[in-house]
Amino acid sequence: MKYTNADICELVAKLEGFIGRETSSFNINEWYGFNNSFKQTAYFKVCQGADKNGTGKYNFYKNKLPTNKIFIIIKDGENFCYREASFNEFDYTQSSKISIAKNNLNNFKHLIWDEEIIEQINATNVVYNRICNRNEEVNKKAIEDLLNQNPKQCYYCGIDMKTINELNNASILNSSLSWHHSKGLTKRTTRMTLEVEQLNPNGGYVKGNIVWACSWCNNAKTDTFTEDEFKNIACGINIAWNDRLQQIGSNSKVIFPWQNQVKCCK
Ligand SMILES: [Zn+2]
Repeated sequence: MKYTNADICELVAKLEGFIGRETSSFNINEWYGFNNSFKQTAYFKVCQGADKNGTGKYNFYKNKLPTNKIFIIIKDGENFCYREASFNEFDYTQSSKISIAKNNLNNFKHLIWDEEIIEQINATNVVYNRICNRNEEVNKKAIEDLLNQNPKQCYYCGIDMKTINELNNASILNSSLSWHHSKGLTKRTTRMTLEVEQLNPNGGYVKGNIVWACSWCNNAKTDTFTEDEFKNIACGINIAWNDRLQQIGSNSKVIFPWQNQVKCCK
């Protein structure tokens, strides 16, 4: 399974109303922190299997987790279940833990596995981790806000994920198109998405300097063109998207965000 424990914790956290990542201390020994709209924090942890060489129980070690609201999540066969737990449940041994017997899952809630939501959580976490690991000029909250932004569309040409997928499918399936290809819009499957782009390439991943850009705009803009220069270039990309949508008889239209600002495309 490609989904990480952090992804699964986020899915449960969302269901429980904890929608924002606790950015200052997100991961405490695999307890993952999320905040709700009342600024309360809760920590979530997954146990993927029972302790094999001992008791056969599901163990949740406290480690360095300070007192908090907590939820414990168990992988029981192919399914996940979870419940809120209390700090009083940690035993007083040196390796303080909550132990759940396999036959004691009655008061756990079944986790409704929504593939579409977990897929989206996973995709955004991959982006988040990639950016946070490679660059020190990262404001995690700014990235978080951008990831939660809806709808997501290319800042320059206006395309969104749904339209990218629609054009990609058409390019694979419809061999009469001049842009037909068995691999879709591009062979580089990791470059067929919306990416996080810095408006000023030296400005860092901070609030006001990051936007979504499609792989094609991001790839073409590089660190050469300025934001305003590239809006003109993106106008041409936008025309190509809409031409293609027309060719496949689609009802979708990619609205160009900068119609009144650009020199071309009048
Ligand atoms: Zn674009």
